[in-house]
Amino acid sequence: MAVYFDYAATHPTEKEIIEKSFLFCGNPSSPHGYGIEARKALENVRRDLAKVLGCTADEVFFTSGATESNNTAIFGVCKAKKRFSNRIVTDDSQHPSVSEPIKALEQEGWEVVRVSTKNGVHDQKELKNAFSVPVALACFMSVNNETGARYDIKKIKKIIDTSGCGAHLHLDAVQGFMKCDVTSDYRLCDSISVSAHKIGGFKGTGALVIKKNAKIKPLIVGGGQEKGFRSGTENINGILSFGEALKLYNAEMLPAVYDMTLSALKEVPYLEFNLPLSRCNHIISCIARGIRSETLINFLSSNGVYCSASSACSARAKGNTVLEAYGVKQEDVIYALRISVSPKTTKEEILTLKDALLQGGERLLK
Ligand code: PMP
Repeated sequence: MAVYFDYAATHPTEKEIIEKSFLFCGNPSSPHGYGIEARKALENVRRDLAKVLGCTADEVFFTSGATESNNTAIFGVCKAKKRFSNRIVTDDSQHPSVSEPIKALEQEGWEVVRVSTKNGVHDQKELKNAFSVPVALACFMSVNNETGARYDIKKIKKIIDTSGCGAHLHLDAVQGFMKCDVTSDYRLCDSISVSAHKIGGFKGTGALVIKKNAKIKPLIVGGGQEKGFRSGTENINGILSFGEALKLYNAEMLPAVYDMTLSALKEVPYLEFNLPLSRCNHIISCIARGIRSETLINFLSSNGVYCSASSACSARAKGNTVLEAYGVKQEDVIYALRISVSPKTTKEEILTLKDALLQGGERLLK
């Protein structure tokens, strides 16, 4: 059986969740019995999600995943606030579902300020300057999907508030959600994106929290579902899987698993680590000195060990701006390796990973 170390890409769905996700067959908008029971189940998940995200249930909107949530927040807020300011503030380490919509707006004439994140920390001076004039949208993430850096959202919010720049603060909480994010951070944000499949729900399901006073326009219009904010028949099976995953995911063991994994990896002589000072407990970013990412990943995969180079989403892109923004030298990006764990990762799996990496070194290092 394969051992899996790519939980930052996706968390496989357990049988128990799959079974409970197909209990209702109706359309949640239908007025008959099937519809009513589907609606009830869906609203229960909305309430559970609201509890974890520190908001009210009517601030939670279901989407097709965090890519849609981020796109909706970015385009929707900028559309609503374009008379207020044409400045967007973000950083240089964003996931493509944030950086690409922002790039599209930049091409339309929006002014974009990208704060640097060397060593996984926002440059304080750049942050202050970025918010020194009116700002329509501030877009940040809680945990970086490639380096595991955990960002200080309280600090950003404080700068926004003291500057009086009026920015809407959007948080991409995908990687920190249920793992290391704290509800007090969520309370500071005007909108939040989360994704079901990072905690064991189905792929293609997510949510966007939009706080009551936020100014935002919908991106997807049609039949008026989700209070007219996100049309389209709700993905009831995906949403139920999200609800079950919320109940099952328990991050308590993550710090111990992380420490055990890091200690084991430190016994692999050719690995160098990109360890941000403030970091989450499920992503370890390394440089496999002397073995190209694809060579190592293929070797590991053929030995039943699955991990990734940096992120599944940037696997298709050329170069890696996120690792370079962190401080990895451009010529070292080809050696990137990302190991990510779950609270249920076992000691045996960690030892299998270490052994496979040691064998990889013997076979592949010249
Ligand atoms: N943001 C971050 C930080 C992510 O890691 C991901 C998933 N790789 C996304 C957004 C996109 O989420 P989804 O797969 O649900 O579209």
